[in-house]
Amino acid sequence: MSARSEYRDPALARKLAAAIAAEVGDRPFSVMEVCGGQTHTIYKYRLREILPPNLRLVSGPGCPVCVTPIGYIDQAIALALDHAARVFTFGDLTRVPGTRLSLEKAAAEGAEIHAVYSPFQALETAREHPDREVVFLGVGFETTLPGFGLAIQRARKAGVKNFSVLLSAKRVPPVLEALLASGEAEIDGFITPGHVTSIIGARAYDELRARFRVPMVVGGFEPVDLLGALHALAAEWARGGHANLNAYARGASYGGNRKAQAVIADVFEERDAELRGLGLIPKAGYGIRAAYAAFDAERKFDLVTDSRAPKGCVCGDILKGLKQPPECPLFGTRCAPDSPVGACMVSAEGACNAAYLFQ
Ligand code: SF4
Repeated sequence: MSARSEYRDPALARKLAAAIAAEVGDRPFSVMEVCGGQTHTIYKYRLREILPPNLRLVSGPGCPVCVTPIGYIDQAIALALDHAARVFTFGDLTRVPGTRLSLEKAAAEGAEIHAVYSPFQALETAREHPDREVVFLGVGFETTLPGFGLAIQRARKAGVKNFSVLLSAKRVPPVLEALLASGEAEIDGFITPGHVTSIIGARAYDELRARFRVPMVVGGFEPVDLLGALHALAAEWARGGHANLNAYARGASYGGNRKAQAVIADVFEERDAELRGLGLIPKAGYGIRAAYAAFDAERKFDLVTDSRAPKGCVCGDILKGLKQPPECPLFGTRCAPDSPVGACMVSAEGACNAAYLFQ
């Protein structure tokens, strides 16, 4: 059996589901899977169908496209249309509706938008064509941030003058802290995101789990990864504990990736950040340090926008674990993957998108 099929083995999945049911018993147990990739797996492999009905899985705020504020989309469009910048972005973001347009629709109005897999593609274009401004849309959590930082470091080293990053980078622990402090959603435990944790390390959750006395477990992205994480979490919860566990040791460690952390610390600084639907959260984001100001699109361009959230979209409540996608009145009617109203319907990591495709 290959490593990948081992993590998708139905017999092992059923065995883990039975072990989870034994730990949970008949008590209600609510778990938030923080990462949008984990949400996608839960829907795609219909994991709820083999889990006890009193175990409630709620999607968390870990879909980067979903939590990107609408004002950011409007700023990116303004860069391309008003400042004639070449805008480079990860593909999902192009379809997120802004106040008037999406990036995809802005392209139809003459904006130059490129969907890429890495900021280095944008940097390369800037070096090859020094006569045009190139802006990379740096959207993500801690997983993608080191790559953005490396691109900025290289741009400075190479003396590139026409490259900058419009940053909307978020930090997972302060977002979880805000969710817990609000007390709005009843969450008995968290499956924390494997990829983010591979950078920041599981120790980043130590303070949270101790302060709020809530168990946490780092989880991967395959069905067996998630069920294994859920089993560890259920066992900890059943014994009344609130440990910070790691069920994804093949991808994440306690200390995280020191080299990546050093790049982040050099280029970025923690800042308060607005997340779509969640509002302004203290220290939940990053800004570019003054030493790299020349590569900060927000400082380089005048980007004032008049942004308005789409009417009727309850993406924010879904990201807070208060609602499930079908509870949105627009779900599957006015809002679908080919005509999204809100960001949660766009990305493969969005809960509405996963629910629409697989439910
Ligand atoms: Fe927003 Fe569409 Fe999801 Fe409703 S279904 S919450 S409109 S993204």
